[in-house]
Amino acid sequence: MFSLETANIEKAINNAKALHPKVKMIEFGTYEVTGSKDNTYIVRCYRKAGEKIVECNCATRPGVACKHGMAAVSLHIAMATQRGH
Ligand SMILES: [Zn+2]
Repeated sequence: MFSLETANIEKAINNAKALHPKVKMIEFGTYEVTGSKDNTYIVRCYRKAGEKIVECNCATRPGVACKHGMAAVSLHIAMATQRGH
């Protein structure tokens, strides 16, 4: 789990761009991301105390942004924009 406000997301964004993980929306705020080895992760995006929180069930340390999280975030932002959030 990491916050978009405090985590260093640049590297994770670059990793996500390089690896193109597949992202599928399960419901708004919950996404299934398929990694490079066909493993799937569940990523949740939500707001808590004004911070944008991303939760991924991969082994990345808390507070560190992972590529699955960032891949899900880009879809989440697109969905949120469509919904007018
Ligand atoms: Zn992850």
